[in-house]
Amino acid sequence: MEEGEAGEQYLFKIVIIGDSAVGKSNLLSRYARNEFNLHSKATIGVEFQTQSVVIDGKEVKAQIWDTAGQERFRAVTSAYYRGAVGALVVYDISRRTTFDSVPRWLQELETHSDTTVVKMLVGNKCDLDNIRNISVEEGKSLAEAEGLFFIETSALDSTNVKKAFEIVIREIYNNVS
Ligand code: GDP
Ligand code: MG
Repeated sequence: MEEGEAGEQYLFKIVIIGDSAVGKSNLLSRYARNEFNLHSKATIGVEFQTQSVVIDGKEVKAQIWDTAGQERFRAVTSAYYRGAVGALVVYDISRRTTFDSVPRWLQELETHSDTTVVKMLVGNKCDLDNIRNISVEEGKSLAEAEGLFFIETSALDSTNVKKAFEIVIREIYNNVS
């Protein structure tokens, strides 16, 4: 943290994790650029995007990391997690296997993190309600059991995307300020 002319500066690293194709890259592109890609390639991805929000009149920057597809090979490196103070753990509400993977992702996060991490469980693709496989209640109860925030989102129609990131950013801010 540095003291600049505009006052205190905050920079928080947030990681997005979860199985391949749950919508991690699209959640980030929707939040940071208001873009969605139907045919996004798992291998194409940037390291991170920085997004600013103002809280209590202070500029808070979130540096949000995307995996660039390594999760397919179960090879998300420790560098990815290093210094993270927030995490979005994403599953796809239409695919049970991605929900079943959540405890494994939480374990991996725990193994690699050196500090308290604000965690949000994200049930993405809530626009696919007609082929839903995981109920809202099930998502909520897993989140409660694991001590996570919970939200359902759609990167496709934008539902709750901003909210998901900003709840995490705000909570991190509350913890450090
Ligand atoms: P990642 O592998 O977790 O980064 O997933 P991507 O962001 O690449 O998305 C995988 C696929 O799911 C792509 O075809 C996206 O268009 C699609 N997708 C992502 N988010 C949503 C969503 O909210 N709703 C729907 N219907 N499709 C989505
Ligand atoms: Mg991706």
